[in-house]
Parts: sequence; C-alpha cells; structure tokens
Amino acid sequence: MYYNEDTIIYVNGAFVKAAAANTGLYSQSLHYGYAVFEGIRAYPAGDSTRIFKAEEHFDRLRYSAGVMKIPFQYTTKKLTELSYEVLYRNGFTDAYLRPIVYCSANMSLSKGKEAMLAIQAWEWTNGYLSNKMRVMTSSYQRPNPAAFHINAKVSGHYVNSILACQEAKDNGFDEALLTDSHGYVAEGPGANVFMEKNGTLITPPPGNILQGITRATVIEICRTLQIPVEEMSFTPEEMRGADAAFFCGTAAEVVELASLDNVPFARPWTDTLSYQIQQAYKCRVLGKPFSSIDQTQPAYSSF
Ligand code: PMP
Repeated sequence: MYYNEDTIIYVNGAFVKAAAANTGLYSQSLHYGYAVFEGIRAYPAGDSTRIFKAEEHFDRLRYSAGVMKIPFQYTTKKLTELSYEVLYRNGFTDAYLRPIVYCSANMSLSKGKEAMLAIQAWEWTNGYLSNKMRVMTSSYQRPNPAAFHINAKVSGHYVNSILACQEAKDNGFDEALLTDSHGYVAEGPGANVFMEKNGTLITPPPGNILQGITRATVIEICRTLQIPVEEMSFTPEEMRGADAAFFCGTAAEVVELASLDNVPFARPWTDTLSYQIQQAYKCRVLGKPFSSIDQTQPAYSSF
C-alpha cells in the first residue's frame, strides 16, 4: 500500500491526508498522459533523512514541465523544502518521493491551462526490482526522440514502459531491455543500463534514453574509482554474454542482471567492477566514504 489513513501528502498549497485527496476526471493529464513527475529517494542520515540529489531531480521536474509547456512556477528550493516537510510530517527517513505535476480540466490538445502539484511519499521497505534480473530484449522500442521529449520524465512515456515490462513478465522474464529505432540497446522500462566488457563499463549515449541521475552518479563513481567508462552504442547481440551488466535508477539503485535473453553474463558478480560500483553507490547515497565498501558481501541478498 502506498498510504494509510494517517499519511500526509502535499497537494497544491496544502498538506492533507492522502486518503482524503482527490483529482478530477476531466484532467488533461488523465486523458492524454500529459503530466510530468519524478521518482526520488530519501535515505536515513543520522536521526534524520537526506534526499539524494534533490536539486538534480527538481531541476529535471522543472525541465520536464518546461518542454511540455505545462505552466509550473515552483522553484527547486521550494520543491525541496516541501518534500522535506512531507517526510517530516510522516516521520519517514527511508522513503520514496513521487512529485507529480498534473493539469486541470481541459479536453483540448493545446497546452495545459493550469498545473497542480502533488508530492506523495511512502516508506521504502524493499525495491521494485529483484536482484539478479533475467532480462529479455523487448519487441517494443523506446519512443522515437523525434516524437517525444525523451529526456523529460513525462507520464505518457510510461505506457511504452508498461508494454515492455509486461511483455517480459508474460514471457517468464523479470524485466525488459528496450532498443532504440536503430536496434541499439537503449534502456530498461524504468532504468538505464550498463554492460561490463574486458574491464570497461559501457552505457548507451544520450539521444534515445532518459539520461538518468543514477547513470550520472555511476559515471562519477567510475571516475573516482578510476574504472574506464564509455558512452557507446551497442546491440543486444553485443551485450549477450558480456562479463556483467546492471540496471541503474533512483528506485533500482544498481541492480545486477543475471542474463539477457537467457544468455548468462560471464563473470561471477562479486568478481566484477560492476559489483564494486554497486557497493560504492550504496555508500554514496548514504553519505559514507567508499573506503567502507565491503568487498566480501553482496550489497543485497534480495531486493
Ligand atoms: N530511464 C527511465 C525510462 C526511467 O524511468 C528512469 C527512472 N527515472 C531512468 C532511466 C533512471 O533515471 P534516474 O536515475 O534519474 O532515476
């Protein structure tokens, strides 16, 4: 469950009970997927909580609203303050935040007339994604960047993600890997992808992907740990049988892939650079130094 009778959320200027909040059936967002949102993690920090990369997430929310021409005036500072307030009012320290900007009643196909903001949060007990994911190459491609602002986080884009994810599940896999319209690997339905080959991390370049904040953090970690990392196009065929691979995203964090199209990744996970990155990412979000990386234990036994 995402909320109970005590849960407080922010909606359009007020902190209200989630159970009592509602929205209209004539919203342009409901009918056309015309809304923008973020997925953000807050991690325990001492007795309190810290939102990881709040600025990057709220800047992206404002960017997404901007390219979609949704009239949205909140500053990143205000959005951050409101989000902390939602966490405090609920007593959450380990949590997922879901701000969404949605539009008023309007059945026309012109730009939004009025935007509303809701900030929801729920406690983070375990991730969406299981560890050691068995992934299939989707028959669905990511949306064409000439048709959508692919680098914005728009509700309607996730119809494509649902199709791909459900197709994978219907075929007995855990998750999908989508290609772009040229057949190159793009990303997962809700996460970016890296593969590891011969001591180098490789990830698809910008253009056909949501350039994730976690992806940027992984690249930062590679630079810090002096792990070679390249942005380069590759096909599913080139990825099958690579040394290792992982999905990364705010919710997923860094999650090991076991196989692609039933072809296992070659090296034992704990022997890979990818595993070191998974450990370093956990330290990074908790504000701990990388030296506290435990080299002997997997980051998660289950996810
Ligand atoms: N790609 C897609 C399609 C996503 O939905 C997400 C999750 N927001 C990501 C990549 C990863 O982005 P981030 O690291 O910013 O969460």
